[in-house]
Amino acid sequence: MTASTDSFRALGLSDALLAALADVGYERPSAIQAACIPPLLEGHDLLGEAQTGTGKTAAFALPVLQRLDLAQRDPQVLVLTPTRELAIQVAEAFQRYARQLPGFHVLPVYGGQGMVAQLRQLQRGTHVVVGTPGRVMDHINRKTLRLEGLRTLVLDEADEMLRMGFVEDVDWILEHTPAGRQVVLFSATMAEPIRRIARRHMREPQEIRIQARTTTVAATVQKYCQVAAPHKLDALTRVLETEASLDAAIIFVRTKTATVEIADKLEARGYAVAALSGDLTQTLRERVIDQLKQGKLDLIVATDVAARGLDVPRISHVINFDVPYDTEAYVHRIGRTGRAGRSGTAILFVTPRERRLLGMIERATRQKIEPMALPSRAAVADRRVALFREQVEQAITSEDLGFFREVVRSLADREGADLEEIAAALAFLAQRERPLQLPPAQGPDVADLARSQRTPPSRAPSRPVGPSPAPGGELQRYRIEVGRHHQVSPKDIVGAIANETGLSGRSIGRIDLFDDYSTVELPPQLPAEILEVLRRTRVRQRPLGLRAMSADEAAMAVKPMGRPKRASAGKPVMPGGRKPGAKKKAR
Ligand code: AMP
Repeated sequence: MTASTDSFRALGLSDALLAALADVGYERPSAIQAACIPPLLEGHDLLGEAQTGTGKTAAFALPVLQRLDLAQRDPQVLVLTPTRELAIQVAEAFQRYARQLPGFHVLPVYGGQGMVAQLRQLQRGTHVVVGTPGRVMDHINRKTLRLEGLRTLVLDEADEMLRMGFVEDVDWILEHTPAGRQVVLFSATMAEPIRRIARRHMREPQEIRIQARTTTVAATVQKYCQVAAPHKLDALTRVLETEASLDAAIIFVRTKTATVEIADKLEARGYAVAALSGDLTQTLRERVIDQLKQGKLDLIVATDVAARGLDVPRISHVINFDVPYDTEAYVHRIGRTGRAGRSGTAILFVTPRERRLLGMIERATRQKIEPMALPSRAAVADRRVALFREQVEQAITSEDLGFFREVVRSLADREGADLEEIAAALAFLAQRERPLQLPPAQGPDVADLARSQRTPPSRAPSRPVGPSPAPGGELQRYRIEVGRHHQVSPKDIVGAIANETGLSGRSIGRIDLFDDYSTVELPPQLPAEILEVLRRTRVRQRPLGLRAMSADEAAMAVKPMGRPKRASAGKPVMPGGRKPGAKKKAR
C-alpha cells in the first residue's frame, strides 16, 4: 500500500477497496468523498449537494460496496439515474471499484435495452441494480426486480430526474422499498422539490455540502474549452501547438495512471515531457523539477498531490486536462503559473456534463473564466507555417550560409531551373519530419471535439473514438517498416496507431516483431485516408510505411522459432514503470 491509500484508509475503507483504488490510480479522496464516505459507512441517510466532476459516484459507490453481503444475490442496492448514459457510467464505476470483490455483480437497466437479456440477468442474481426510473418501475411491477432485500437506495442527479419529469416515478419507487433502508440523494442543487423528497422519505439525513472558499487569483488569464472526453488529447496537442506565449506547461490530470498515459502520448508526439505523480521518490521528483527549470523538459503531466508547492517561474501555462474536483484544487493548480511577477494562462477542459462546475469555480475565485475556441486544424497549420518562417528568417540572419548558397547555386545551374521551385522543394524536404499541412484524416474538427457522444461510452472512455472495425470482420495483416533493430516495442506500435487513427487498442490485433520490419493486424476495409495517415506516421523516428500484405507474404512472415511477442490487446499504452527522462524535443 502506498502513502496515498492511507488517506482513503483513514475514511474506513476496506483493504479490498483500497487495493482497487490503488489500481485505478486515485491519490486522495476528493472533498465530497472525504465528507460522505464515513457517514455512509455508518448507514446514515445522506443528502449531498454535488455536481458531476466532484467524484460523487465513488463517494456513494465505495461505502455501498463495503456494506454489501456478497453471499446474498437479491438486489441490495438500487441506484436511480436520470439517463441511460449515466446508468452505464455508474455501473462501470461500481465494477471498477469492486475489482477485488469476488463474485460481485452490478446490472444496468434502462429503456431501449432488450428486456429478455435484463430478465435473464436479474434472474441470475445481482448485488446492485443501476437504472432509469421508468425501466426500474417496469421491473418492479412485473416482479422481476424484487426489493425485499434492498438496503440502500441512491438517487443520483436527483434534480435532473425531477427536471425530466420523473418525480412521481421516484416517489413511487421509494414507496416500494422496505422500511429501514438507507436513502442517499445527490443533487447539484437543493431546490424545494428535492427537499420535499428528502422530508418524505429520509430519516435525519446528514447534509453534505462542500463550501467553496473564495480566493483571489492574480496575474492569471483563465479560459475554458468545451471538449468531449474522447477528444481531450487531440484538443491538448492543438492548444500546445497554437498558444503563442507558451514556454513551459503543467498539465493536470486526476490519476497517477493518467499522468503516465498522457506523458507517453505527448512524448510520442515529440514533446519533452515527464509524468509527475505521488509515486515518484523525492529524488526523482526533484530531478524532474530541475529538468523543467533548466528547459530540458517543457511539459509536466501531474496530479494535484504531486504538483503541490511546485515553483518554477518558466511555467507559462496550466492546462486542466481533467477538471479539478474542488475549487481549492483549482486555485492551487493555477497558482503554479503567473509566478515571480510573470503572467500566466490557465486553460480548463470541461466536458459538456461538467459545465456546471465552471460557475462554482467562478464564484470561488470571483473571476470570470472566458470561453476559448479550440484551435482548428487550419489554425494549427498556420502556426506551423509561422514557426517555419521564423526559423528560415533566423537562419538567413544568423547562420553562415556560404556552403549552402553554393549548393543552391549548383542546383540553379541546371537548365530551366527556377529558384522558387528549388526553394519550394527544400521547404518540402525540411518539413517532412513535422508536416506544415495536417493530413485531412488526422482527427475530427473543432465542432466534433466539443460535442459529447450520444451513444453510451465504450469501456475505455479515455481513448479517442474514431472509426470502429467492421463487426466480426477478419483482421487484415499489414507490414510496417520498423522492427526490433529500431528498438520498437508492440506498445509503441499500438500507441502510435491508436493515437493517429482513433482506433481503439482492442481493435488492433496481433503484432509480430521482426528484425527490421513488423506486422500488425488491423480491422478490414479501413478508409484510404486512415491508411495514408498510417503510412506516414512515425515511430522511433521512422515512417511506418504501412502497407497491406498479400496472403502469401503474411504466411511467410511467420517466425521459424518460437512465437514473436504479442501486444496485449486493449492496452495500447501501458501505464507504470516508465521512468521520467529528459528527451529533447524532436523539432
Ligand atoms: P464523478 O463526479 O463521480 O462523475 O467523477 C468524475 C471523475 O473523477 C471520474 O472520472 C472518476 O473516475 C474521477 N475520480 C473520482 N474520485 C477520484 C479521486 N479520489 N481521485 C482521482 N480521480 C477521481
